[in-house]
Amino acid sequence: MQTEILPAFTGNNELNTESIDRAAALLRAGEVVGIPTETVYGLAANAFDETAVAKIFKAKGRPQDNPLIVHISAFEEIRELVSDVPEAAKKLADAFWPGPLTIILPKSSKIPDAVSAGLPSVAVRMPSHPVARAVIQKADVPLAAPSANLSGSPSPTNAKTVFDDMQGRIPLILDGGSSQVGVESTVITLCTGVPRVLRPGGVTVEQLRAVLGAVEVDDAVLHQLKAGETAASPGMKYKHYAPRADITIVRGSLAQFREYAAKQKEDAFVLCFAGEERYFPHAVPYGAAESDSEQANRLFDALRELDSLGAKTVYARCPSLDGVGLAVYNRLIRAAGFHLIDLTEE
Ligand code: AMP
Ligand code: MG
Repeated sequence: MQTEILPAFTGNNELNTESIDRAAALLRAGEVVGIPTETVYGLAANAFDETAVAKIFKAKGRPQDNPLIVHISAFEEIRELVSDVPEAAKKLADAFWPGPLTIILPKSSKIPDAVSAGLPSVAVRMPSHPVARAVIQKADVPLAAPSANLSGSPSPTNAKTVFDDMQGRIPLILDGGSSQVGVESTVITLCTGVPRVLRPGGVTVEQLRAVLGAVEVDDAVLHQLKAGETAASPGMKYKHYAPRADITIVRGSLAQFREYAAKQKEDAFVLCFAGEERYFPHAVPYGAAESDSEQANRLFDALRELDSLGAKTVYARCPSLDGVGLAVYNRLIRAAGFHLIDLTEE
């Protein structure tokens, strides 16, 4: 199969309706299309079409037990997907939709098992990206879409990276430029007594608490599951977001980090904050120390860059765990296989 890339915008920054129409026609015909969203690029298919959804799993090499997020373009579309819309869901949608928040609710009978991976619930999001919204509207069906990378690789934040992973596997990618947020959506479930964050993202735990009151954070966000433990969010159990290099997160001040890095092998790389490159012989920056949103925006590209530079061993500066930093840390600790050295404890 040839993979075509079409521009999603015209020269004047308006939506390219020809490209959108082509994507929508393919989606209605049961094909899979790579589309930009504000979080990362998605691999979309008609959520009501079981055969089309199966093609997403095949293209990604995604394990069958990892459910997909269903994307809508207007709040009312949620009613077809879930069995009940609680007050908390309305509050969250009012505050954060369209945007990088995924809400899990008990599913309706219209959701194929392939989408929910056999779970009784479904994950729903309304993206803010104008291209994603236009494609959903034009296709006139909700779109099931995971991140558009091969399973296990860092999520793609631009069309070129989608092409690198999906070449020959899907017919079309819409190029809508770089994704703004750069990490996947925050996932919150309303199926538990107290709402619970299963995956941190661009909408922070602090923001969610301001709207809902009590919100829990699932253990799997920060810690490795123990053998035999089941993940509330199946995606959390997989080795994810991982480049080929062995990564170790090193928590401590810049001075402590520099002293530690200086003792490592000469060909080791450092994943540092912007502006710190000059202290290390091989360094890739992932955003400014004081900007969690810049770190989120840069992280996956930086991980892919480490691969392209042939990095084998990487020592990473540890992000703060506040705000969007929690999402950055959650992705980085998985990329590192939960390998963390804490110099502040010494
Ligand atoms: P991705 O589409 O690659 O961004 O991954 C979607 C994430 O949402 C994965 O971590 C899934 O395990 C999680 N997810 C999707 N649907 C559900 C659900 N019904 N219950 C729990 N987690 C879900
Ligand atoms: Mg993914």
